[in-house]
Amino acid sequence: MNIYFGDLHNHCNISYGFGNLEYALMEAREHLDFCTVTGHAHWPDIFRRNEDTGFIIDFHRAGFEKLSKNWNWVTKAIADANEEGSFVTFQSYEMHSSKYGDHHFLSPDDSLTLETGDSPAEVIENLAAEAVAIPHHIAYTPGYRGISWVDFNENISPVVEVYSKHGSGVSDESAGEYLHTMGPRDGRNTVYSGLKQGKRFGFAGSTDHHAGYPGSYGDGLTAVLSDSLDRKSIWQAILARRTYALTGDRIRCRFAVNGKPMGSILEPVENARYRLEVNGTDFIEKAVIYKNLESVMVRHREDFIGEGSLNNIYKIRIEVGWGRKSSPYHWKNMISLTNGEIVSIDKCFRGQNVLAPKEGVDHPDDVNRLGNKACILNCSKAVFECTTFRNTTTRHSSTNAVILEIKGDESTGLTIDVNDKIVNVSIGELVKNSVSGHMNEYNCEAYLIHKAVAREFYNFAMEGEIKVEPGDFIHAEVHQTNGQSAWISPVFFDRK
Ligand SMILES: [Zn+2]
Repeated sequence: MNIYFGDLHNHCNISYGFGNLEYALMEAREHLDFCTVTGHAHWPDIFRRNEDTGFIIDFHRAGFEKLSKNWNWVTKAIADANEEGSFVTFQSYEMHSSKYGDHHFLSPDDSLTLETGDSPAEVIENLAAEAVAIPHHIAYTPGYRGISWVDFNENISPVVEVYSKHGSGVSDESAGEYLHTMGPRDGRNTVYSGLKQGKRFGFAGSTDHHAGYPGSYGDGLTAVLSDSLDRKSIWQAILARRTYALTGDRIRCRFAVNGKPMGSILEPVENARYRLEVNGTDFIEKAVIYKNLESVMVRHREDFIGEGSLNNIYKIRIEVGWGRKSSPYHWKNMISLTNGEIVSIDKCFRGQNVLAPKEGVDHPDDVNRLGNKACILNCSKAVFECTTFRNTTTRHSSTNAVILEIKGDESTGLTIDVNDKIVNVSIGELVKNSVSGHMNEYNCEAYLIHKAVAREFYNFAMEGEIKVEPGDFIHAEVHQTNGQSAWISPVFFDRK
């Protein structure tokens, strides 16, 4: 099976977000295999109006009405963007719920209608179209738009969004704290808490972007294992929980237990043979296999020494951005190799970030019409164009990047034409350290060619065998030294 990457939950100006739907779909197809764009539809138990909440209630209501008025052309635009084999789209909309937590309804059916209901289960019941209800930003406080595990129903929710712009809802110990105005992460509502209660679901990641840039790098991504890139196959994979959640980097993972892929529910047996294959994008800090959330096998960065070059394959990240100006900065970068070969390219593209509507602040319809794109021209040349803005804070990056996988050795040379500035560097130098440069005198935009990562640091397999009992589950997690993670859906053993 192949691994495909997409975003199953994000917003634009079809409801109370920003940016046009057409630009969102246009940018999405440049770097994603599948996506949806989600409208905000309703909130049955919205809080009471007081002097603090009036603005919030009003923008939600206006957004819901806008979506309802535009529903026909929204579904048509999303249907028209679907291109089997290259870019798959799904229909979706979202309900807020203080009691059950927020959910988005995802459907492969272009005739999906907007239905209401007091709970996600009621909405699904009222729908004629096939759909699932995906709980998201689950770890908010119970009753405060966090998930209600008691009401969770695996039959309508095969997957749960475990990571997004809101942070990581995996566990109290997981990196990615909740910082949104909606409040902190509550350990009772995490993924681990649900799994401990015997709930069965797969993991998904999506951005919950609010300004029309699906798949915005670092805000969450879903990987799907599927034979082919068409709506039916991707949908079947989601139903089968053959998914995993990523923060942003396309860490390629295959995980199977007794030969069955992630997400499987297996008949109880005595022994489980697990195998995890990882093809990361940076140094793997830690890869862990867990049974019932207790680690059974760990591989650490420290288990590997030296700089590595057994395979003569490297991953090199080229990142651009920084600067102090709030205006957009356009990049046109050409990468040429001597004595080497480009094997693959990964795109780490970001859109401008808007958290939620703010009183007195507006954003243009083309807020995220950025023209970010990259491709391999031939085995020794790749092109990378994008638009960046200064970093939002000193801890929040707004950069863009590509990651090249390169076959070569320490003599392989990279010539990078960065907006007509020529940079020459060899893999031999990049194995030792990263190299950066600036586009102007001071406080200006800059580029960074990251340290080269030899294949043995990002590509490996681990396997073993353990005793299992009915109701046990085995899952895996991969964390890279650059802060990027993959949370891989469990394989469950059925309860007798
Ligand atoms: Zn949302």
